[in-house]
Amino acid sequence: MNILVINCGSSSLKYQLINSESEEVLAKGLCERIGIDGSAITHQPKDGEKQTEQVAMANHTDAVKYVIAKLTDENVGVVKTLEEIDAVGHRIVHGGERFASSVVINEEVIKAIEECNDLAPLHNPANLIGINSCKEIMPKVPMVAVFDTAFHQTMPKKAYLYGLPYEYYENYKVRRYGFHGTSHDFVSKRAAEILGKNRDDLKIIVCHLGNGASITAVNKGQSVDTSMGLTPLEGLIMGTRSGDMDPAIISFLCEKEGKTAAEMIDICNKKSGVYGLSGGLSSDFRDLGQAAEDGNELAKATLETYSYRVAKYIGSYVAAMNGVDVIAFTAGVGENNFSVREAVLSYFGYLGIQVDKEKNSIRGEEVIISKPDSKVTAMVVPTNEELAIARETVRLVK
Ligand code: ADP
Repeated sequence: MNILVINCGSSSLKYQLINSESEEVLAKGLCERIGIDGSAITHQPKDGEKQTEQVAMANHTDAVKYVIAKLTDENVGVVKTLEEIDAVGHRIVHGGERFASSVVINEEVIKAIEECNDLAPLHNPANLIGINSCKEIMPKVPMVAVFDTAFHQTMPKKAYLYGLPYEYYENYKVRRYGFHGTSHDFVSKRAAEILGKNRDDLKIIVCHLGNGASITAVNKGQSVDTSMGLTPLEGLIMGTRSGDMDPAIISFLCEKEGKTAAEMIDICNKKSGVYGLSGGLSSDFRDLGQAAEDGNELAKATLETYSYRVAKYIGSYVAAMNGVDVIAFTAGVGENNFSVREAVLSYFGYLGIQVDKEKNSIRGEEVIISKPDSKVTAMVVPTNEELAIARETVRLVK
């Protein structure tokens, strides 16, 4: 089957066409600035060059039309007609408590996703637009919703409740949901496979360290705790997000800076993290690493603060699971940045982890980076959220 995987943002649409038998990416691309001047589609067929074309896209339905046009194009296309697209898998950010697994999309599902809109006002409405646009253009093609939050629905109450008046949970469903679920599930599964073990017998901590970053404790195949919360702002220090902090800082800074709470939260989301901490130097770890190497003290302190936070979370999840067998690193920073991995793992000598420096210098590949006699296995497992969405889609429509 050929599965079209769609990840729809408010003004963007990322896509991949994946053949489910070979698991090969036939083509991928991105529509940007949808509904804004200067919209463009970048398309790359397998074995082909990446090409960007400026085209007017007034809305996401236009974008889906262009995606289909590219995929079926005589020169850069990879299928002959729309009929060769067997199903569509949509990435949906928030499924609330309603969705603990992926589902085939129907009217009832669309309504239930709409009901989760106020939990993710920036993301879910955009995801729904993607669904509706595909429905308009390919009404007969089955579609599946794969939720970022679903994998974490196994968390016990003690992990998802906040220390707030219980009525806020009852009235507004304020609780920890967690995100990157597709990635944490994929990586923990793959880690067990690589080790030739059954995931149900393992305690795994997955560190998804990308621009957005989160850590999950996966005990016997189930998420039992995760660092992101009601929104993706909680937990680790990220590219531009603050992660955990004293909530009283918000009102303190609102007063000092004459800002509203919403403006302050925007700063916590977009101007903080390693970007803010480094004095606006960069949110990219390659720049920060270079600056630190060149002797920039603030860049050094930023990277130390970042790694320390990751280590603290790992430590707390060792406690949550009463042990750990595997620590897996993934996403942009986790897959490529060996200094961060080494700094994080240096806190776990007491667990018997010894880093193999040579193995740890490998980038972007599946590799075990701890020494063979380490009591806990540390490894790198590249994530592939699109492939995971395609697999879920096939599982449900077959
Ligand atoms: P997103 O959350 O946007 O999907 P990614 O998983 O692509 O993020 O991670 C992006 C981050 O990964 C970049 O900000 C960069 O700091 C880091 N990164 C990517 N490649 C490298 C590399 N070769 N070396 C060090 N860091 C890298």
